[in-house]
Amino acid sequence: MRAVDIIARKRDGMTLSAEQIDFFVQGFTQGTIPDYQVSAWLMAIVLRDMDRQETIDLTMSMVRSGDQLDLQEIAPFVADKHSTGGVGDKTTLVVAPLVSAAGVHVGKMSGRGLGFTGGTLDKLESIPGYRADLSVEEFRTQLQSARIVVTGQSADLAPADGKLYSLRDVTATVDSLPLIASSIMSKKIAAGTNGIVLDVKVGHGAFMRTEQDALALASMMVEIGKRMGRRVRAVISDMSQPLGNAVGNAIELREAMDTLRGRGPADFRNHCLTIAGQMLLLAGQARAESEAVRELESLLDGGQAWSKFREWIAVQGGDSAYVEDPARLPTARFVQELLAPRSGYVAGLNAREVGLTSMLLGGGRAKKSDCVDHAVGIVLQAKVGHHVVEGQPLLTVHANDEAKLAGASQRLLAAYEWSDAPVSPPDLIHQIVS
Ligand code: URA
Repeated sequence: MRAVDIIARKRDGMTLSAEQIDFFVQGFTQGTIPDYQVSAWLMAIVLRDMDRQETIDLTMSMVRSGDQLDLQEIAPFVADKHSTGGVGDKTTLVVAPLVSAAGVHVGKMSGRGLGFTGGTLDKLESIPGYRADLSVEEFRTQLQSARIVVTGQSADLAPADGKLYSLRDVTATVDSLPLIASSIMSKKIAAGTNGIVLDVKVGHGAFMRTEQDALALASMMVEIGKRMGRRVRAVISDMSQPLGNAVGNAIELREAMDTLRGRGPADFRNHCLTIAGQMLLLAGQARAESEAVRELESLLDGGQAWSKFREWIAVQGGDSAYVEDPARLPTARFVQELLAPRSGYVAGLNAREVGLTSMLLGGGRAKKSDCVDHAVGIVLQAKVGHHVVEGQPLLTVHANDEAKLAGASQRLLAAYEWSDAPVSPPDLIHQIVS
């Protein structure tokens, strides 16, 4: 078998066999197929797509690229969640400690920023010392002792995804149903968790722009998970505008900490309650969604979720001083308010533009080797449905570079659409697929 023939086959729109897919995945993982051939193969998949069977074969090949965890003797049930990627999506930072505080073990492998979307690990690493590189043994030990662990791709678990993920980020090969489904499900299956809630984002700020595409992705991932004997549910949720008000690494971490202390924006809090509620249902910890949400609200408002967050960060090496006093988290040199250019109702706020702007400010990566700037980002004061008077603050930009600040300001003002008539905010939850 030759890599070039497999690339040509996909380029010409033909179906790949399980063996051909496996040849590519294992070859890339072991370093015998170089980045440039894998990049061409990924682009051929983006342009020509993969069918259901190819997507399942790709996922299983990625699972086989490393070990598979067996968590059976650690906990009777381990819950997990994963988002397909969005802007301002800091949900894991709240949901993981919240569900753990409800008595359910939460074990999760998270990712870094991808394209214009942020990554949970980049946000957590705003806290000095936080370790996102736990070994499999450390993952197991912490899951058992603290009932919560959120770490990065390990060299042992689905290593193919770790390598493909960072290559896709810088070769414009993220937006593809089979690549997203296999990336997410391979690491979920390898991590050995029993119940997985998939947060499938739809809208400008998501990789899936239409309801139909989001539903197709959700159904594919649910099918893969069930075939592997996991309890899986997908929540299709809005990403036409950013989730919550904060976009950027340390900025989002602060908003998540506020939410864990019973504050935080209502849309973000409600979203967290929905995702966490589904996790409790999968764990058999509640009989109905309303019962789950009631319990979760009391854990948020009663401080138990916040205590679990503090315990989690400390046990994973994070400096607790930054959690106790979020003012110590990285801050940007320039903080500028942008004012509304007119009066009216906000009719649209393009999440993709906001995410791209945060990335260009330094919050994301343009090349694999780039470091992220934890301090930069955007805080929104006006979102869809809000009425604003000309000259009122629309948002605040946090930047470390004056030229980037000027570029960001123009881009962000152009991300707003206006109406003279009242506008309703979008529904947060579109549907649940199980
Ligand atoms: N999250 C992942 O883990 N992989 C993707 O491809 C997209 C979002």
